[in-house]
Amino acid sequence: MGEAAAGQGVLRIELDAIVANWRDLGARHGAPCAGVVKADGYGLGAVPVARALLAAGCRTFFVAHLTEGFVLRAGLGAGPEIIVLNGFPPGADEQAGLMPVLNSLGDVAAHAAAGRAEGRPRPALLHLDTGMSRLGLDAAEQAALAADRSRLTGLDLRFVMTHLACADEPAHPLNAAQAARFAEAAARIAPGVPRSFANSSGLFLGPAYRSDLARPGCALYGINPTPGVANPMRQVVTLEVPVLQIREIAAGTTVGYGAGYTAHGRLRVATVAAGYADGYLRSLSGRSLALFQGRAVPLIGRISMDLTTFDATEFPEMRPGDRLMLVGGPGNTPDDIAARCGTIGYEVLTALGPRYLRAHVGGA
Ligand SMILES: *Cc1c(COP(=O)(O)O)cnc(C)c1O
Repeated sequence: MGEAAAGQGVLRIELDAIVANWRDLGARHGAPCAGVVKADGYGLGAVPVARALLAAGCRTFFVAHLTEGFVLRAGLGAGPEIIVLNGFPPGADEQAGLMPVLNSLGDVAAHAAAGRAEGRPRPALLHLDTGMSRLGLDAAEQAALAADRSRLTGLDLRFVMTHLACADEPAHPLNAAQAARFAEAAARIAPGVPRSFANSSGLFLGPAYRSDLARPGCALYGINPTPGVANPMRQVVTLEVPVLQIREIAAGTTVGYGAGYTAHGRLRVATVAAGYADGYLRSLSGRSLALFQGRAVPLIGRISMDLTTFDATEFPEMRPGDRLMLVGGPGNTPDDIAARCGTIGYEVLTALGPRYLRAHVGGA
């Protein structure tokens, strides 16, 4: 673990908790789980996260972009499967042993033709859209492929996959509809090919959502995959940021841009070295808190690009150089923070900026 520079925040990432979450999800699934490490491992560091999962037995990783795949391959070496969800750009050749997801009939045609030309089937995943209307073969493309499966000649299909739209809402009727569409289409188009179905929340929906390879992401990182029910996952991150200055201001004095906060009486203002440029979302202005020695310190005023102010009046012992925990701790998880500003824990994590020292601990 590196040393934080003066004034630098420390994002601490418990690799053992990520591994424990992965094992727990695998046990619930009763079948293998991949590790989804797109967006730099949801902001926490794709390579260290994937190395820890690899050491624990994970053999398949999902990224979104080809460039993320290159970084991960360089970090992991040969061996584990690395699958690129967004596919390869047109004309891209086989890339560092990475595997593309084929998201359209055009992708199928291009990769199958290349495989036939090379006389060596191209490994790939086939993505069937069953309700997202985003990527993946739509219903018409699926019908065309089912009617002429010779189009798959030249491909070594490792998995056929689909993605749930409403897995975090167990009662949503689209879940069962997607399960039925997937089962039916996969049997027609790719009989005998292993299937990949559930994301984190999908793992909790029951046996109809089991497959040969689940694709959990958020739950690995401690985000609650079962909203409305107690979080079954272990927490993974804390973010501690140093106090740069503390000052006393008089009643009537304002704090920050827009004079967004006015002191009602004498007030101690603690200014910390993180702002919206670091992913401390500006929409949290006036509606979040940090923890100091386990106690809540209210956020006051507007979050600036590089600085945020807190009301330290109740903490006469706080000094510059002390650290406030902006993320993590009881009542201040990424999900808690997301709820205060109308977003989801995924966004809180993936927004975490590059200026923090990422301190990965455990995971040997
Ligand atoms: C991001 C993603 C996942 C992981 O989803 P979580 O909700 O984070 O578990 C799985 N599959 C696909 C296709 C994805 O894009």
